[in-house]
Amino acid sequence: MAVKALVIDLDGTLYPHEKELSADIASAERIDNYIARHRLRKIGKQLSERERKRLIGQRKLSALILRTCEAYDVSREGLSRYAYDIDPADYGIGKDARLTRLLEKAARRYRLFLFTNGYPNWVRKVLKAIGISKFFNHKNTVHMGMLIYGIKPSAGAFRVLADAAGVDTGEMLLIDDSAKNVAAAKRLGMKAVLAQGSDGMPIYAILEELCKGAES
Ligand SMILES: [Mg+2]
Repeated sequence: MAVKALVIDLDGTLYPHEKELSADIASAERIDNYIARHRLRKIGKQLSERERKRLIGQRKLSALILRTCEAYDVSREGLSRYAYDIDPADYGIGKDARLTRLLEKAARRYRLFLFTNGYPNWVRKVLKAIGISKFFNHKNTVHMGMLIYGIKPSAGAFRVLADAAGVDTGEMLLIDDSAKNVAAAKRLGMKAVLAQGSDGMPIYAILEELCKGAES
């Protein structure tokens, strides 16, 4: 089946951070401070130091937030708002004219969707900082706030995407910097390509390839 829709990840894909957001956003101190202030009720079992280290060591901020909320019984909304209360410019995220031109080209040939585990306010801030807000609105964006059955790479997250997109799974191509997300998409019958990182292709090269032959 031909590809009709591009489903694009945000963090680590549309801006090339190797470790997505730097570890200092999700530092042990910041998370500990938040938990100390906002934990609603004490849960029976304290986490061991090893469990806590494993928690803080999550590579993806979205996964860290989810696991922290489960482990400490704090609200996902509250912790997300706190963790993502940062300025994209402080992390080297800024205007990207080349990406904007390529998305313009891609939008003429494909339907575009943004599929991210990120917190909605952060998503809006990053899109604005890069200069690509016009391509993604509430109709073609799936973010953390909508992922009630689990975040990527869970099948539940892909179900939410499929419902929102209304496009046949076999006609969607996922572009994501997570190998796990790419594998999950393929298992569900989507096409998928790994972006950025040491193994993936730069987002520019992927979009250029997909737009080959299109009028510029
Ligand atoms: Mg990513």
